Amino acid sequence: MASEYLHEPKHLNLKKDSDQPLLELKSLQTHFFSDEGTARAVDGVSYKILPGETLGVVGESGSGKSVTALSIMQLVPQPPGKIVGGEILFKGQSLLGMSEDEMRKIRGNEIAMIFQEPMTALNPVFTVGDQIVETVRVHRGLDKEEARAHAISMLEKVGIPSPETRVDEYPHQLSGGMRQRVMIAIAMSCDPSLLIADEPTTALDVTIQAQILDLIRGLQEEEGMSVLLITHDLAVIAEVAHHVAVMYAGKVVEYATVFELFDSPAHPYSLGLFRSLPDLAGPNEPLATIPGMVPPATRFPSGCRFHPRCSIATDLCKTDEPILGFLNGTDGRTVACHHIDEAAKL
Ligand code: SF4
Repeated sequence: MASEYLHEPKHLNLKKDSDQPLLELKSLQTHFFSDEGTARAVDGVSYKILPGETLGVVGESGSGKSVTALSIMQLVPQPPGKIVGGEILFKGQSLLGMSEDEMRKIRGNEIAMIFQEPMTALNPVFTVGDQIVETVRVHRGLDKEEARAHAISMLEKVGIPSPETRVDEYPHQLSGGMRQRVMIAIAMSCDPSLLIADEPTTALDVTIQAQILDLIRGLQEEEGMSVLLITHDLAVIAEVAHHVAVMYAGKVVEYATVFELFDSPAHPYSLGLFRSLPDLAGPNEPLATIPGMVPPATRFPSGCRFHPRCSIATDLCKTDEPILGFLNGTDGRTVACHHIDEAAKL
């Protein structure tokens, strides 16, 4: 369907599925408790990331993508949030059983995260060099001189020109694209096994966005790390992902390779996301949109949570929640829908 979006990823030297996943979520549930009720922001999410793989997680705002990432890092504000069920396994070890001290060693060192707006993540009163130095001194125990040399080499690696000068500049002296490169330099400075990138290019213009995606892909090839890329933008997924998890209302509704998904999205929600891509509409055709909005996490509908927005919903959809099931004839592709055959005719 939309495979013209894809170019051959340069880094498909993935290990086989039999390899132990680097990260595995099993029925993860993160809820928020308030006077308005319980918000089931993440409500039974399962996916895995293999070593060296990029998993793209896509869905509209409010689908639970970012809360899942914060849950992995154990950065969900508690209260009001709480991981109430499921498991997070990293290199086979349960992160949920770890103490805060143990988690601190994992964060930055083993799993690093970059955010949409680097200005909120960078400290405005410290130079960019100081911020990298701080990270590597804490996690790697380098002395001041070694840490500064490492900071300069990281800035060079992420394509900052004149890194010996830029290292002493403050975040406000850099452009948005440069700041995102600095965030990536900080994240990569301890050589993590997993980089979580939450909407890393949303705030950037298209040219810079392409450069940042190239940078992430290049670093991944060089370093062999895995990437969890969260975005609402399918074009970004097409650039870098191997597998894709489509999330809706706190759940994964479809999981497929990027080629399977772009070739034939199986879930009506995935299909709706594709049909709202500008490049798929003809020059004079209006963009297709998915009617309605993602429901608030305090008031998910019964049955299939997508049913109020789905053009082929039946009475069964209103009462019975579909579970993720393997799609016939595929190798590990899963979809949560009662009427896959009908959806294929849409
Ligand atoms: Fe639509 Fe029913 Fe499938 Fe949900 S289960 S996506 S409502 S057809």
